[in-house]
Amino acid sequence: MLPLPPFSVEAPDRLEPVLAMAGQHGVRLLAGGTDLLPSMKHRLFTPATVVRLSGVPELAGIRATADGGLRIGAMATLKQVRQDARVRQGWPALAQACATIATSTIQAMGTLGGNVMLDTRCLFYNQPAGWRESIGGCLKAQGTVCHVAPKGKGCYATQSSDTVPALILYGAELELHSRRGVRLAPLADVFGTDGRQWLTLHPDEVLAAVVLPPPGAMVVHRKVRARGAIDYGLLLVAVQRHGKGGRAVVSALGPAPVMVQAEDLADLPQAAWKASMPLSTHAWSSTWRKHMVRVEVQRAVAELSSPHLAAG
Ligand SMILES: Cc1cc2nc3c(=O)[nH]c(=O)nc-3n(C[C@H](O)[C@H](O)[C@H](O)COP(=O)(O)OP(=O)(O)OC[C@H]3O[C@@H](n4cnc5c(N)ncnc54)[C@H](O)[C@@H]3O)c2cc1C
Ligand code: SF4
Repeated sequence: MLPLPPFSVEAPDRLEPVLAMAGQHGVRLLAGGTDLLPSMKHRLFTPATVVRLSGVPELAGIRATADGGLRIGAMATLKQVRQDARVRQGWPALAQACATIATSTIQAMGTLGGNVMLDTRCLFYNQPAGWRESIGGCLKAQGTVCHVAPKGKGCYATQSSDTVPALILYGAELELHSRRGVRLAPLADVFGTDGRQWLTLHPDEVLAAVVLPPPGAMVVHRKVRARGAIDYGLLLVAVQRHGKGGRAVVSALGPAPVMVQAEDLADLPQAAWKASMPLSTHAWSSTWRKHMVRVEVQRAVAELSSPHLAAG
């Protein structure tokens, strides 16, 4: 059993005090804690202060927007999102993505906001402190070398949020609050290229909600993982028709999801394969993961074309 490091807890009941603390040195925001707390046990983060978001009403709930879309509060749990009748009807791939995360107990604790803000992952990073010390750390934490690409200066830890690919294709925007005000940022535009700074958001910005436009073209979500439960994706894929062609988001291969478009839906699997460059951030072979991109996009295209699904 790994102990947590010592820290103090703030539990505000309004957003304003959260905005005053967010981004300050030694402060971390705590949503469901299903990723933050294990990371603290691994000493990846040792914040002096943890700010609990569960008492902040501005971050709670799921409500319809005036234009027929949905505003999902950042603190809505994955279980709430998965079970919401409006989500299941209008944005079913989001419900499916939530259902493939970890286990039902983690889905009852983990939030959509925490999932979107999830840290990138790597075989050499998501390990207990002693394990990492034995290899001298790495560029992302307490070291000077990347074990995945030792000659490089970058970090290739992978974006691993299950909900991100489908949310991008649904056109989701992030409602971001800071002391400077509120802004909406398209989710597709917030990813950086380095696993240490995987989001281009300002450190003091707090995610208040994920905003979905009215339902559009159907999205198919697919996940490849080692076991049928608990495991993070070795590959995440979402596919949607786009005009006469299609578009795909392929994730869990690098710091940012890869977006691919093809004028003919039949060309999408090959285009996605060409655009994907997995590195050895997982114990599983990169060659096999790249091969599976074509396989999974092909399967998603087949699902899109299935009369049963098209009727749904
Ligand atoms: C065994 C196990 C298996 C898992 N498998 C998967 C998986 O297959 N797929 C997957 O996607 N995830 C997986 N997870 C990770 C995690 O459970 C989910 O991603 C979950 O949705 C994270 O949400 P949370 O509320 O617990 O986030 P937290 O752990 O509370 O926070 C995660 C990060 O987001 C930041 N944050 C949270 N809320 C906000 C906000 N409103 N504004 C700004 N920053 C914020 C936190 O500061 C922290 O850095 C797994 C976790 C475990 C323990
Ligand atoms: S990709 Fe390299 S720097 Fe990034 S977490 Fe993995 S080993 Fe560390």
